[in-house]
Parts: sequence; C-alpha cells; structure tokens
Amino acid sequence: VTAKLLDGKSLARELQHEIAERVMEFVQNNAVTPTLAAVLVGTDPASEVYVRNKRRACEKVGMESRLVRLPPEISQDELMGVVAKLNRDDGVHGILVQLPLPSQIQATRILDAVHPLKDVDAFHPENVGRISQGRPRYLPCTPQGVLQLLFRNGLAVAEKRVVIIGRSDIVGKPLALLLMQRESALGEGMANATVTVCHSRTPNLPTLTREADVLIAAVGKPRFITAEMVRAGAIVVDVGINRVNEQIVGDVDFEAVKEVAGYLSPVPGGVGPLTIAMLLQNTLAAAAAQMA
Ligand code: NAD
Repeated sequence: VTAKLLDGKSLARELQHEIAERVMEFVQNNAVTPTLAAVLVGTDPASEVYVRNKRRACEKVGMESRLVRLPPEISQDELMGVVAKLNRDDGVHGILVQLPLPSQIQATRILDAVHPLKDVDAFHPENVGRISQGRPRYLPCTPQGVLQLLFRNGLAVAEKRVVIIGRSDIVGKPLALLLMQRESALGEGMANATVTVCHSRTPNLPTLTREADVLIAAVGKPRFITAEMVRAGAIVVDVGINRVNEQIVGDVDFEAVKEVAGYLSPVPGGVGPLTIAMLLQNTLAAAAAQMA
C-alpha cells in the first residue's frame, strides 16, 4: 500500500475561495480593502519568488498588496524608518518583512519594530507570547498551514504522539506550542497532542521518529527522513523546501517513505501553498482588528 497524498495545492485553492468570500463581505461592510505591505530588501532570487507569490495570492482573493523594494545596502536606521512609516499608515493592515535580511541589518530589531496588530507573520514577541499562553492573535503561517493540512484531511492530533524535527522560531517551535495546547480554534481534535521536538543535538533520532503517529519534518536537509525512520502507517508532513539541481525537494525521501507511511505531503504542493493561504487569512484578520 502506498501512502495517501496530503494535497496542499488543491486545499489552498479551496481555502483561498473561502477567504475571497470573506474579503468581499469585509469590503462591503467596511469600505476598506485589506492591504498587505511586503518589504523586500535586496534581490535574493528565492525571496523575489516568495514575495511575488504572496502578492499574487493577495490580489486573487481581492486584497491589495504593496511592494516596498529596498536596496541591499540599506542601513538599520533607514529600514527602521520604513517599518515605522508602514506602522503609521492606516491604509496598510499587514506588514511582511521578507527574510533573510542583509548582514548589516539586525533582523530581530526589525521584526520587533513591526506593530503587533500588523504582524501577519506572528513573529513579534507579543504575538509569540500570546501563542505560548494559548490566546493567539495571529497564528504563524507555516505551522497553521500544517494544522490545516491535517484538519481538512480529517486527521486529528489529539491523544496522538507527534514528533517534530526542527526547533526554529518560524516552524518547529511554534508548531509544537500549537499542537500541545488544550484548545485549538480548529476544534477539539487539533490540540492535545503529545509532542516531542527533535533537533540537531538529539541522540538516537530514528528511535524517536519511529514512535511518531504524526511525523513533521522541518529540517532543511534534502531527503533527510528515510523509510527506516518512519513507522508503518504514520502520517508524515514534509515542511522542507530544498533546492537540489534546480529542483525543489522536501526533507522526506518521498519515493521511499510513501511505501511505508499512511499519509504523506508532497513537496512542492504540500505545506508551501497553505503557508500563503494562512498569510491571507492573517491579513484579513489584521484588517478586521484595525477596524475595531
Ligand atoms: P532552520 O534551519 O531554522 O531549522 C532547521 C532545524 O532542523 C533546526 O532547528 C535544527 O536543529 C534541525 N536540524 C538540523 N540538522 C538536523 C539533524 N541532523 N538532525 C535533527 N535535526 C536537525 O529551518 P526552518 O526555517 O525551520 O525551515 C526548515 C525547512 O522548512 C527548510 O527547508 C525551509 O526552507 C522550509 N520552510 C518551508 C516553509 C513552507 O512554507 N513550506 C516555510 C518555512 C520554512
């Protein structure tokens, strides 16, 4: 038996239709179009693609997107000034600072400067703190995308053993917080997991991954998860995006693992499109929060 595919691409399309309807209703009620400002520093090709995709998605659901394009040699103070101006701008509801930033910039200081109500990536310490305390404002896009992928495929995590590989502030850590909480906005089945977080210093990794009912890979290493690391029938979610010879591959050895897993998300076409859908959802929520 081969694994059932967790198709993020068609799910993202479905979610975007739902968001588009809510945007239309929002515009009718408020005479305001939710607007995302994307800040792009420099000309990193991957960042260019990410920002373009995010802006296109905004427009597809009836939201506006602005691009603030800045030269790679911009100073910390100048960039702080750009963020401050967007914070003050009532026509901007969400601010996205595309990472990575050039080396002369202290990224943490920039992300901390984004107004918490406009922080649609949920990177601000206030928003992270709220997630940790189980009273989230905005949910971080990739972790929320993973949860949606499970939820909309009818796969509950409650009482399940979830193993996450990766402890980053963007994926692994917030995902662990969401999965272990008592309550989820998505419903009962999407909280109360028993979560193990593995990382680069974890000994005996395969022993731990084989215990997982749900295995989530956010490692950033191509085909790192082999079939031997997966329990038969497990749900495997691949967050990884790695470029190998002009091709995008995940953190999971797809061909081998699909013969073992019960469910498997592909790369591309898995978590990636959902990350963008969740950004749209947060931008709409941000616009609503700023109307109040
Ligand atoms: P990161 O580099 O910040 O974190 C990687 C994590 O993997 C670290 O916590 C590290 O401890 C762990 N790790 C590294 N080597 C390991 C090893 N040998 N054994 C066990 N753990 C190990 O990366 P990130 O930002 O969390 O992203 C992870 C992957 O997900 C990347 O491929 C990234 O491109 C991708 N990503 C995808 C999306 C999406 O929308 N699908 C969004 C963000 C990141």
